[in-house]
Amino acid sequence: MPALAGSSTPGGGEASEPFVDDSLPVATVGVVKETHPRERRVAVTPAVVPSLAKADLTVLVEAGAGAEAGFPDEAYRQKGATVVDRVEAFAADVLLRVRAAGAAPHASADLEALHHGQIVIGMLDPLFNPGACRDLAERKVTAFALELLPRITRAQAMDVLSSQATVAGYKAVLLAADALPKMFPLMTTAAGTMAPARVLVIGTGVAGLQAIATARRLGAVVEAYDVRPAAREEVESLGARFVELPLPSGDAQDADGYAKAQGEDFHRRQRELLGHVITANDVVITTALIPGRRAPLLITAGMVRGMAPGSVVVDLAAEHGGNCELSRPDDVAVEAGVRVFGPTDLPATVAHHASQMYAKNIVTFLLHLEEGGRLRLAPDDEISAKTLVCRGGEIVHPKVAEAIREQAGARSREGEG
Ligand code: NAD
Repeated sequence: MPALAGSSTPGGGEASEPFVDDSLPVATVGVVKETHPRERRVAVTPAVVPSLAKADLTVLVEAGAGAEAGFPDEAYRQKGATVVDRVEAFAADVLLRVRAAGAAPHASADLEALHHGQIVIGMLDPLFNPGACRDLAERKVTAFALELLPRITRAQAMDVLSSQATVAGYKAVLLAADALPKMFPLMTTAAGTMAPARVLVIGTGVAGLQAIATARRLGAVVEAYDVRPAAREEVESLGARFVELPLPSGDAQDADGYAKAQGEDFHRRQRELLGHVITANDVVITTALIPGRRAPLLITAGMVRGMAPGSVVVDLAAEHGGNCELSRPDDVAVEAGVRVFGPTDLPATVAHHASQMYAKNIVTFLLHLEEGGRLRLAPDDEISAKTLVCRGGEIVHPKVAEAIREQAGARSREGEG
């Protein structure tokens, strides 16, 4: 079991000078084909290879790594990358991944392929599935979880949550439009007038706002709700109606702009108030998340039964417990003629553009860390300090360490019970 740090910062936290770790070379960058079953994205696209080469980094791409996203090996070669086999790509100093550790459960072969001192950067699902980060620490890997990136202006170009949520919000609407037995726009024809579809978006962060914009472009009448009062202005600027619920909202947002976790009483009242709004809509798209927690339960099975047959729910929080009681990850539940989708792979279904944005994010992040072929960790650099999960066999991120302790505690309580 690796050590769990309480609050350590990279480089020890005392010195204000950047800490350049000579034991961690950053000369070769490996890009492998993703192992998660439905993953079609690739972490690095040909377009970003020259920016890595400019920093004297050699890019080793596993043959076929970008094929499913529409990036053939030849396109990588033309931009200066070397196409290699999987073993050679895995041997690189730095591995750039879309999904690794907790974000790619069951990929134990990937874990075994890692070597001591290797650097892994990608989405690791470190708070919801922290045990996999402990496995990385045990292999003495230095790992950075991009989900933990601070939402600050300086880090916007590295923000994978935003770029991938943009794709998910867009695709959720297309999924709903395809499944709904109605058209989205108002149609006035010789055969009669068809009313526009009514769409409700719950949770108006990056994915929710993109869902609103996409549903509006298709001609639907859109309303939206979020616990954060600041969301109203953004919702209205996209031409949707903001749903006001008589709930206390003063304490809804934390200093980072995220929604705060609320108690069960708040959620019960929220569900009661949302009931009639939900039944008035043909499509409900939910995106409500609280970082590191189970997604709030907003729609019960009874509320789904109150919707008109043929209606559609798309629950983008399904991977983290779901906003709808009936949603199951990557499955479709049918209740009283209403279909409830729980897709967890929507960005992967738009693999070309999703990879393009992801590659820009991850390469910007790597170039931020790299200095003269070494890993540079400045103790006062929020970007590296908040994303570094493990180093030297130790879990160094306090929130990840806490999540590991919480899960271990829950397991031992289950064992006793
Ligand atoms: P998220 O994916 O964590 O959550 C999605 C939405 O669900 C949020 O808007 C949240 O308020 C909402 N939500 C949570 N619980 C809810 C509930 N019970 N009922 C209704 N809605 C609920 O959000 P996100 O897209 O990652 O964005 C989080 C915040 O970060 C937002 O304030 C966003 O504007 C901000 N942000 C900042 C930057 C930046 O670079 N400055 C970039 C992206 C996002």
